[in-house]
Amino acid sequence: MTAPAANGGEQVSDGTVFGQWCSWHHGAALSRPVAMIERGPGAGGTLYACRPCRIKHGFDSIPTFMARAALFNHLRGTDDTPPCPSCSRYERCPEGDALWAELRRQRRADQRTDQ
Ligand SMILES: [Zn+2]
Ligand SMILES: [Zn+2]
Repeated sequence: MTAPAANGGEQVSDGTVFGQWCSWHHGAALSRPVAMIERGPGAGGTLYACRPCRIKHGFDSIPTFMARAALFNHLRGTDDTPPCPSCSRYERCPEGDALWAELRRQRRADQRTDQ
């Protein structure tokens, strides 16, 4: 059986990305992007892992990681941007709301399996 080094992933209707091949247990499974290939013939590609493998290895999917980082940057600020003055424990600005919604959506997608 020949496995694709890195499949292209699949954008489903809600915008979350799934692959159909897990690069960790080397089998077909509903998978999410977890790592970029930095060197070798597949450089620039993306590695996908299924949910059991993500749990086993403690991986966050890249979309979830990015969504969380975007929310944290909005709430806490970065080197270049100040923390959001409107978001607090009790209130969120529209942008903060959208970032929360995106993180929830990606976490839900992480729960998905083939079954
Ligand atoms: Zn797997
Ligand atoms: Zn805000």
